[in-house]
Amino acid sequence: MTDQDCVFCKIVAGELPSTKVRETERVLAFRDINPKAPTHVMVIPKDHYANVAELSRSDPALAGELLAAAADVADDDGVSEDGWRLLANSGRNAGQEVFHVHLHVFGGKPLGPMLAV
Ligand code: 5GP
Ligand code: ZN
Repeated sequence: MTDQDCVFCKIVAGELPSTKVRETERVLAFRDINPKAPTHVMVIPKDHYANVAELSRSDPALAGELLAAAADVADDDGVSEDGWRLLANSGRNAGQEVFHVHLHVFGGKPLGPMLAV
């Protein structure tokens, strides 16, 4: 399942470069091109789902694999002990820019309040 116009599908296909940090059969993790923290990694399924709702309702096991991969990324980047944050934007009010579901893994510094207000 791919979307020809999707930037993350192109990264999965190797048509666009990325700095990969973890890869399993069904999951890929790579550094955000515009990092907001010392650790800022995208964790995505290789198949295209638009958002968390679509992924978790279509393939809840794959949603679980994404969570486990995020925890492994935090371990690998050495941020597990000090703490880290997961973020998944869905839709307009959340400011979602890429409509291929992704978990942001942030860490490596105090991350401030949960939301900008
Ligand atoms: P969203 O706002 O959809 O939750 O987050 C999309 C994220 O994808 C942004 O943090 C943005 O910097 C990142 N991003 C967009 N295009 C690319 C790309 O081509 N490569 C990488 N590594 N990250 C990207
Ligand atoms: Zn995609």
